[in-house]
Parts: sequence; structure tokens; C-alpha cells
Amino acid sequence: MNNNTFYALSTPPGFSAISVVRISGSKSLETIKSLTKKNSGAFKSGKTVLCNIYIKNNKILDSAVVIFYKKPRSYTGEDMVEINTHGNPIITSQLFKKLSKLGLRLANPGEFTLTAFLNNKIDLVQAENISALISARTKEGVSLALKNSLGKASNKFREVRSRIINTLALVEYELDNTDTTNQGITLKQIKTETKTTIKTIKNLLKRYNSTKTLIKGPRVVIAGKPNVGKSTIFNFILNQDRAIVASIPGTTRDIIDATCDIKDLHITLVDTAGTRKTNNLIEKIGVNKSKKELKSADLILYVCDKKTEEIKTKNKTILVVNKIDKISAGELTNLKQTHKKNIFVSAKKGVGFSRLKDEIYSQLKTKKQTNQNIFIASERQKNILSSVLKLLKKSNKKLISSELELISYDLKTALNCFDSLLGKTTADDVLDVVFSGFCVGK
Ligand code: GDP
Repeated sequence: MNNNTFYALSTPPGFSAISVVRISGSKSLETIKSLTKKNSGAFKSGKTVLCNIYIKNNKILDSAVVIFYKKPRSYTGEDMVEINTHGNPIITSQLFKKLSKLGLRLANPGEFTLTAFLNNKIDLVQAENISALISARTKEGVSLALKNSLGKASNKFREVRSRIINTLALVEYELDNTDTTNQGITLKQIKTETKTTIKTIKNLLKRYNSTKTLIKGPRVVIAGKPNVGKSTIFNFILNQDRAIVASIPGTTRDIIDATCDIKDLHITLVDTAGTRKTNNLIEKIGVNKSKKELKSADLILYVCDKKTEEIKTKNKTILVVNKIDKISAGELTNLKQTHKKNIFVSAKKGVGFSRLKDEIYSQLKTKKQTNQNIFIASERQKNILSSVLKLLKKSNKKLISSELELISYDLKTALNCFDSLLGKTTADDVLDVVFSGFCVGK
């Protein structure tokens, strides 16, 4: 048997009710015939068959549900098999041994989806949305990624591409046309068309940050001056000791993040290196990184340890006053009355955290966007659309008859960008990047 038929465990490894092993390639049917000692007639495409799986010396490994999918009506577009065994890693590993004995090889990360893409079952945008669908950390993210994996985003991109083709047709018409009487009208039309396309792409790009949040879950960044207790707060919320806590200013020199759940929200909590000016090179790098984090944060917990530091609280910031164990009860009551919006905590004593978590939850909940239909699922998509936007802006600036050749060139380049966006003309190294982000078995 040739080893272009590959297999992988498609469910998480470990003990579970069932495990699904998938096989894709021309030897799929032959493999299950050999594993089950049944003939091809037993396996109708898409139908479940309960069979014994045999390994060395005719030993029964397991009783499993086997499904055969005849190409091209399978996920990969090749003949495929799904074997649902009992979920025990010992069974899986023995099955794997048998499959490699039969000449099959272990799949690479994302190889099932890559094969689907290569067989034109999906385009590259859909593939990236399948990846987003598997990893999405919010309900909205799952629902959007699903729509887009079924082609909604690709259709939108094709729609934008068609508009550019129409614009290019107008440009080409003017280039061929020797009669210049109505040229002004056509140039105006080209400008209007391009403006509409620019607006559409801008709108799509605007959503990139919020969609990242929908996929990865919101990022909550803890900021403030050194030694105010950021790492202690970080640890307290996470209930684990991941960050270094010390009394020397500037200990947390890099960004540390960890995920945790607050009610039904899966958040990433980020501990920053603080915002003080420093000459220490390593610390400087940390400070710059924290500035970036603050910019892209969904919510900032700005921590101070003195009564109330004066900061400009933007709507995405909660001012957290830490170390309240160091002030008297009377002083605290006064502070709470004068600064009603601030959250007062003691990370050392674990006081004030349920209010803090409630506040984090309610701020993030109201921020969530639910009215989106299409999203940019990857940095790659964002970069390509940004290039198209640049080209269109450039061509619209040149809009006079003597520049039509150049405009035509820019529009054609923009169309090529769409081909690489959807994966019609994509270099192998780009595909490597896209599919290496997948897990083995998808
Ligand atoms: P960071 O530099 O802002 O991350 O501050 P750390 O979390 O490293 O804390 C600096 C110092 O403040 C450490 O000695 C902590 O034990 C102490 N600290 C943190 N939170 C509290 C608190 O609520 N009360 C008191 N008294 N000390 C605290």
C-alpha cells in the first residue's frame, strides 16, 4: 500500500466514552476491509457499521462503529473512514500500530483540512474559519466562525472582487475608447464604484480587533505603577501562582498571561511590566510590550495603592485601589463614598474580589458585539485586505484620463490579492503557516 493514506485521532487524547480515528486516502476502503475482515459490500458511503476490529494474530482489539465516505462526498474529497472505538488510549495506540503496519502514515497538523482545500472542497478563507470554529472561546465566535466556514465570508470577499472587476471593465472600456465625449461620466462612475469598495473593505477591517476577541475571548490587562500589587492581584484572580510576586519594583519584566473563567466568560488575564520610565533595557522591552497590550485590551484594570491616583479613566478601564488593609476602616468608608466607581481590594487578604469580578463581567458583557455576520478570521486575511485598500485608495487619487493605464494595473493587482485571499494562487509557505495552526486530526 502507498502511504499517501493518512490517519489521526480526531478526538482529544485520553480516556473517554469514544475515540474517533479518521483515515483519508485511496487505501481507506482496503484498510477497513483488512481491519474488520468484511468485504466492500458491507460499507455503504455515509452508513454506520458496527464491526470487530482485528489486530495481530486475529485478536479482536475492539468493537467499533465504522463509517466509510466515498469520494468526493467526504470532508477531504478523498475516500475517508471514521472509526469510533471505545475511548481508551491503549486501544488507540494498538490501532495506530496496525494502521502503520498496513502502510498508512500519521497525518500532519491540519492535513485533513489541507486536503479538503487542495481538492476544492473549501477555500482558504473557509479553512481559516474552520480553525477559528474549533478554537473559538465565545458563543458568538463559534456562531460566526460556523457561518463563515460555510462560505459567508468568502461570498462577501467574492462580492467585493466582482465590484472591482466591474470597475476594471469601465477603466478598460475608457482605455479602448477613442471617443472622449462621455469620459467625464465614466471617470465619475469609476470613482463612485471605487469609493463604495473602499468603504466596504474599511468596514470589514474595522471589525478585526473585535472578532479577535470573539475567537480568543476578551483580554483583561492589569496595569499600573510598579509595586502596587498587580502580580498579587493577577495571582489572586487566577488562584494560582504563575506570576512572580516580589517587593522590588520592576520584577514582572515581561507580559504574563493566563486564562480563567468569570461566570460564562473565558478571559485572558494579562500582567504587565508596569508603566514607569526606565533605563534598564530588558525592562524597557517589557514596558513597550505592556503599552501594546494596553492599546489592544478589551478591559484595563488600572491598579493603584494610594487612596485614588488621578488617572483619565477611559470607558474600558476599572480603577482598582489595592492594599486597603493598610488604611483605617474610617478612611476606607470615606474613600468609598467619594469614589463610588472605584473598586477597593486587598490582594493580600483577598478582600473585594467578588465585586471586582462582577464589575469585570458586567463591563465585558455590555461590550460584546452580537450584530456581526462576517469577520476577518486571520492576520493573513487582514493584511491582504489592507493591501487591497491601499491599492484602491492609490488608484482613486490618480483618477484622470492620462492615468488610466496605471489605475488598470492597480485594479488588476487588487484582483490578484483576492485570488491569494481565497487561496486560488497561494504559495506553499503561506499554506504551511495556515495549516500548521491546526491540530493533528483536523
Ligand atoms: P507589582 O509590581 O504591581 O506587580 O506588585 P506585586 O504584586 O509584586 O506586589 C508588590 C508588593 O506589595 C509585595 O510585597 C506584595 O506582597 C505587596 N502587596 C500586594 N498586594 C498587597 C495588599 O493588598 N496589601 C499589602 N499590605 N501588600 C500587598
